Order: sequence, then C-alpha cells, then structure tokens
Amino acid sequence: QARKRFGQNFLHDPGVIEKIVRSINPKPEDALVEIGPGLGALTEEILALNPRLQVVELDRDLIPVLRTKFFNYPDFCIHEADALNFDFRQLMTDRPLRIIGNLPYNISTPLIFHLLEQSGVVQDMHFMLQKEVVLRLAAGPGDNNYGRLGIMAQYFCKVQPLFEVGPGAFRPAPKVDSAIVRLVPHQTLPHPAKDLKTLQSVVRTAFNARRKTLRKALASLVTVEQLHSLEINDGLRPENLSLADYVKVADLLVESAGNTEGGNEVSND
Ligand code: SAM
Repeated sequence: QARKRFGQNFLHDPGVIEKIVRSINPKPEDALVEIGPGLGALTEEILALNPRLQVVELDRDLIPVLRTKFFNYPDFCIHEADALNFDFRQLMTDRPLRIIGNLPYNISTPLIFHLLEQSGVVQDMHFMLQKEVVLRLAAGPGDNNYGRLGIMAQYFCKVQPLFEVGPGAFRPAPKVDSAIVRLVPHQTLPHPAKDLKTLQSVVRTAFNARRKTLRKALASLVTVEQLHSLEINDGLRPENLSLADYVKVADLLVESAGNTEGGNEVSND
C-alpha cells in the first residue's frame, strides 16, 4: 500500500526504468546514492550494474522489504533517514557521489535546495521530478518558470532536462506529468558570489515581489543609484535579471557592508 504522506508513487514500467538507468549509465566504480528507493524498482536495476549502492529511505516499513529483496548484495547499504536533513557528505569516501532518485514530489524543492548546498561532494544527480519542477530548474530570464529554484540550481550546476514520463509509468499514477533531469555541479562556479547567503537573500527578496519592478522589489536592499552603478535597469522585473546580475547585486551589498564596518579606518600613528 503506497503512502501519500511519503509521496510514494512506485515506478513499474520496465521500459521507463531501463531508459532512466541508461541515462544514468552507472559504472562499477561509481559511488552511487539513491534517495527514496521505495520497493526497489530502480534499485534492482542499478545494483545489477553497481553493487556498491547506498540508499536513503524514510519509510521504516520499507526497510525490511529492501533488506530481504537485496540480501545477496553485501555492499548494499541502507540508511533509514530523512533525506531533507541528511548529511550526504558523510557518504563520500574516495570519489564524489552520483545521486539518483525518483523523488517524493511533496518535498522535492526543499530537497533540491538541500542537495545544492552539498554539491561540492557530488559528481552528478539524476532525478525524476514533477515536470513543472524540471521546467523551473532549467528556466532562464524572461521565462515564466524562472525563479529562485532555477537561479540557485544554475548557480551550482549545469541543468539538463532529459525526457518526460507520463503518469501511467507509476503505481499509483500521480496526477501530474513527470520528467527526468540531470544536474552536474560546475567544477568552477561561472558566477561565484562573495557570500552565498547574501545572494540567496537577494534572490528570495526579488522573487517575493516578482510582478514588481526591480526598483520596488529590491528597495529594502539597494538604491536605484546602486542598481544603475551596476548597469542594471531598475524598471526590469525580477524574472528578467540574469544570474550574473543577481550575483553583482549581492556582491555590491557585501562590499558596502564591508565599507561601513570598518573600511574607513585611518591610522593616526
Ligand atoms: N524509487 C521508488 C520507485 O521509483 O519506485 C520510489 C519512489 S517514491 C516517488 C518516493 C520514495 O521516497 C518513497 O519510497 C518514500 O518512502 C521515500 N521518501 C519520502 N520522503 C522521504 C524523505 N524525506 N527522505 C527519504 N526518503 C523519502
């Protein structure tokens, strides 16, 4: 019996499972981690290629099912835990992690934010998500789906939508369409911010008022003159500003905070 509160929609279409595994292309030496293995539909196919798989599953009733099903894989490791506050860094040994999962849709956005912050230990991630979430991850300026999720995902990762999956591939069938996405953390950040928290707060503030102009949406943080000094048109809307420009605004805030906190110290000696 699938549990709604755990976002359980189990994959059962072998063609779709095979297509996902082919996109992941697991190698025997990979450090693979699956979030939410459920009854093990994807797990089983992955284990056949890479017996070193580790999984993180919250539903304690599924743990004995997984143990029984995969008892003949001694290197298969189950972590009974909530992925939302799981420290994935502890799973890394000799190589960065390849994280996969048909994620519970009810927590997918906070879970992605949580994973992005740990992307330093990640080689790549392949996720099944609600199609709309994949559109938001991949959206650029000017797109209706552009927002906080896409900006922060693209800050850390290259985002590649792969293919769509219809509701019929799952039991029970979800009410929404799904899609597979690949996220590959940048080796070097293309637009590094001086302070990540400041960038996050600028983006959050802007998109809290996505229908307003930047002048109004960011009024609590920057003046119109400051926006102009960055060559940003204050009449644009938050959904028109690029990641690079958000980073510029955040860096300006960090610099001006630095100046007021003691940048003007003059020695009398
Ligand atoms: N991978 C399986 C499949 O494709 O058939 C199951 C996918 S189902 C959409 C989501 C899975 O994530 C369920 O097994 C659910 O119990 C698990 N889950 C839900 N919330 C979780 C959390 N916070 N941490 C870890 N696993 C969670």
